[in-house]
Amino acid sequence: MNKNVYQFLDVQRIDPPKKAADERRIEFTEIYEPMSGLQLQGQADRCLDCGNPYCEWKCPVHNYIPQWLELANQGRVTEAAELMHKTNSLPEVCGRVCPQDRLCEGACTLNDGFGAVTIGSIEKQIVDEAFANGWRPDLSGVAQRVERVAVIGAGPAGLACADVLARNGVTATVYDRYPEIGGLLTYGIPPFKLDKAVMKLRREIFIEMGIEFKLGVTVGEDIEFSELLDQYDAVFLALGTYKALDGGLKGLEYNGVYPALPFLIGNTQTLMPHQPMPQYPHIDLNGKQVVVLGGGDTAMDCVRTSIRQGATSVTCAYRRDESNMPGSHREVENAKEEGGEFLFNVQPVEIEANESGQVTGVKMVKTALGQPDSDGRRRPEPVEGSEFTLPATAVIIAFGYQANPPEWLKKHNVELSDWGTVLTDSNQEFAMQTSHPKIFAGGDMVRGADLVVTAIAEGRSAAEGMLDYFDQLLIKAS
Ligand code: FAD
Ligand code: SF4
Repeated sequence: MNKNVYQFLDVQRIDPPKKAADERRIEFTEIYEPMSGLQLQGQADRCLDCGNPYCEWKCPVHNYIPQWLELANQGRVTEAAELMHKTNSLPEVCGRVCPQDRLCEGACTLNDGFGAVTIGSIEKQIVDEAFANGWRPDLSGVAQRVERVAVIGAGPAGLACADVLARNGVTATVYDRYPEIGGLLTYGIPPFKLDKAVMKLRREIFIEMGIEFKLGVTVGEDIEFSELLDQYDAVFLALGTYKALDGGLKGLEYNGVYPALPFLIGNTQTLMPHQPMPQYPHIDLNGKQVVVLGGGDTAMDCVRTSIRQGATSVTCAYRRDESNMPGSHREVENAKEEGGEFLFNVQPVEIEANESGQVTGVKMVKTALGQPDSDGRRRPEPVEGSEFTLPATAVIIAFGYQANPPEWLKKHNVELSDWGTVLTDSNQEFAMQTSHPKIFAGGDMVRGADLVVTAIAEGRSAAEGMLDYFDQLLIKAS
């Protein structure tokens, strides 16, 4: 049967149903419900099957989007899930958290006035359904190789690297300091965007695939890095980037001022009581007047977590305008629907407190957008004489993160950039190889704080680089 390429004229884009905002405001569960089977097929059928699919190129892992949309349209869930796994190690996660409006869906031809195909939601739902039907990756035909790799960091970069290695017969052992896998997927992104059960199921699947996990192990403290370098044929570094930026803001020491990530992890902890991490105590913002400083995904997660904790008001203050916000526009809309308030074109000057050191507000200055900076984004410039105080009884700092490479890396001649990110592109022979031939790296510790899907892309690429490196060693030895 020939495909009706004009289907998009009759069938409008529909996003999956969302829970009512009143319900969302009080619970930490995912806000999107699945589409009906017919709806999903109809949405997948809107794809034009463009000869040169821009969505595929814009997707950092270059998913075979039109092909799996066609399988989804035909109800061939298992085949669609299998195809999704050829290019992506965590499609069910990307379908949930990728900023699709800036990636695949932003590049969809239909985005030009007709409404992009709902690529992300279909990706998520197909994989969820395949897993629920009992489908699992089949590695029975994979020939086992002799090489062993240590992966440090069980975030998306580390997991993607281990996934590709396992599919090529290499034993991967993943070390992480935390008790559960996922990195920021588990200890960062809140459960209303990504249910904690998703990574729990992935862990079971990865174990069935032969990946080993050594959790609760901090490399450099519980085990020396040099030991791993001696014991394994290669090491993949995927430690992320965790040094929180604070902009040198005055007043950070006052009571009621919290850095974003410990606040989010402390909250997640209460939802995962079987895996306590006492170093991240729960911070309760019930009844507080909260100001969140920053405009990225982390800021949005803090706004929405504070609302769910019962804050009386939550205001996000950002120094540029709404169209220049760095995070996903979808999540800004979700935060607004849930009651988050936004102040654009304002910049904090200092945090204010009363005599006993309890925060009372943030002194702000209005900004105007000036010339574009090196990223092409217009630089915010303070407007003289426009200062005012934004009242607050709790302030969350969400300015972003910068690289914090561990001391032990320097001892092993791994070259770093001036910003502390690991260099993998300085004329190395193999993809994602560092200046040390046995050490590969990827994700946020190479790119700086970025996205889940780019971390996955680099983890996969590093695994390919290692396989080429092992093959070359074998050729040399023969
Ligand atoms: P991480 O996910 O940070 O994983 C690194 C892992 O290394 C961690 O588990 C850590 O415990 C471990 N580790 C570090 N040092 C050691 C050591 N010495 N020994 C053992 N283990 C160690 N991106 C999106 O695409 N969409 C979103 O909606 C989104 N929301 C976000 C919300 C928040 C709050 C934050 C902070 C980030 C968000 N991001 C989002 C960004 C995304 O989560 C990251 O870009 C991505 O997780 C980076 O992956 P990674 O594997 O490089 O590092
Ligand atoms: Fe889109 Fe992300 Fe899926 Fe790629 S991985 S198709 S960018 S949702």
